[in-house]
Amino acid sequence: MKVYKFGGASVKDAAGIKNLAKIVSEESDNLVIVVSAFGKTTNALENVLKSWLSGEGKYTDLLDEVYAGHLLIIKELFGQESEAKGKIDVSFALLRDYLLTVKWGKYDFEYDQVVSYGEIWSTIIVAEYLKSNHQEVEWVDIRENLLTDDRYRDANVLWSESTKRIQSIFDFRKERIYVSQGFIGGTADGRTTTLGREGSDYTAAIIANMLDAECVVVWKDVPGILSADPKWFPEAQKLDEISYREAVEMSFSGAKVIHPKTIKPLHNKNIPLYVRSFLNPEGKGTVIKFDATLRKIMPVFIRKENQILISILPKDFSFVMGDNLSRIFHSFITHGIKVNLVEASAVSIDVCVDDERAKIDVLINDLKTEFAAVYNDRIEMLTIRHYTPEAMTLITEGREILLEQKTRSTVRFVVRQIERFNGSTA
Ligand code: ASP
Ligand code: MG
Repeated sequence: MKVYKFGGASVKDAAGIKNLAKIVSEESDNLVIVVSAFGKTTNALENVLKSWLSGEGKYTDLLDEVYAGHLLIIKELFGQESEAKGKIDVSFALLRDYLLTVKWGKYDFEYDQVVSYGEIWSTIIVAEYLKSNHQEVEWVDIRENLLTDDRYRDANVLWSESTKRIQSIFDFRKERIYVSQGFIGGTADGRTTTLGREGSDYTAAIIANMLDAECVVVWKDVPGILSADPKWFPEAQKLDEISYREAVEMSFSGAKVIHPKTIKPLHNKNIPLYVRSFLNPEGKGTVIKFDATLRKIMPVFIRKENQILISILPKDFSFVMGDNLSRIFHSFITHGIKVNLVEASAVSIDVCVDDERAKIDVLINDLKTEFAAVYNDRIEMLTIRHYTPEAMTLITEGREILLEQKTRSTVRFVVRQIERFNGSTA
């Protein structure tokens, strides 16, 4: 069996869903299809949530817009009356009811209860459409099968119980194709959780791991994984095959093609991941696998924007290595701040993290009795894998470099952000 994953951009309208159906009809193997919320639905639901939490009545208008968007797609796919419309109406009613009757609790918890609906709606519509195309299809509610802990918005999968459930629900006895949700899961006591923004790739990898899939195919609006973001470097080239290691390093450095957590479950079972274009399904795309070589080793450029560089200094001038180091990192972990780069000297440590100001303020406050902290904001981290002198000049020319870090294969520059970056070659 294979796992296919379709992201929001591939199912942003009726034409996208028809295209999905065509791609699926050309596959004769057993399939689990993992789908994200349509288009920008997740962002729209985040706005509904924000509005609801702030006590505005306006959230209902925002939700009506989301409903209208889904209805439009349903009408284009099925005409006036359909099973899909009935099911979507029931599901929207559940959410409206929740928002009316529940006195809201913790933000992360409410986020998951509300924002997770995007994937429920998209999968209902996709499954109904495939059924109407004479495909044998079953819709699966992943919340009852992919069990997680209760770390809302960043839930951890409970592997052994989930594996049992996933293997028994996706057994291919009655149906050849299953459609289920990316990004979401559920706790043992029936609460909905999410795995982190853009987490549907990760879901596909988890399911593939548990079912020992032959491969995962992620269908995207790009021809494959490129050597740079083409908006940044128009001369970016497609990479035909890369190793798991390369993929992890790239996504960790900020490449947006694949969610960083996706690779581990695939690596552990040696399952290849194909990134292919839904606009050009004939194209070969990129394969991420165990024994891949970056055939001609070319520089790969990655840019991570909206960073903060924090310097932390023990107030008593003690060495930063040793106890201080574990104290500092423990604090990053407890506040849920992911570290993108670390550089230590004798009496200070520099850390580059995403600019999530509220969390950072709490962290600095937490450390302030023992440590002084200074930071630079509005910066970005530029990474080159397989760097060359020319590649380094290309991205740093004229930039103010705050920090540079080099290993045998990778160089990183922390530089000030500039509003419009013109990175094309001279
Ligand atoms: N719909 C979710 C998001 O936009 C998950 C995903 O697309 O992977 O973050
Ligand atoms: Mg999405």
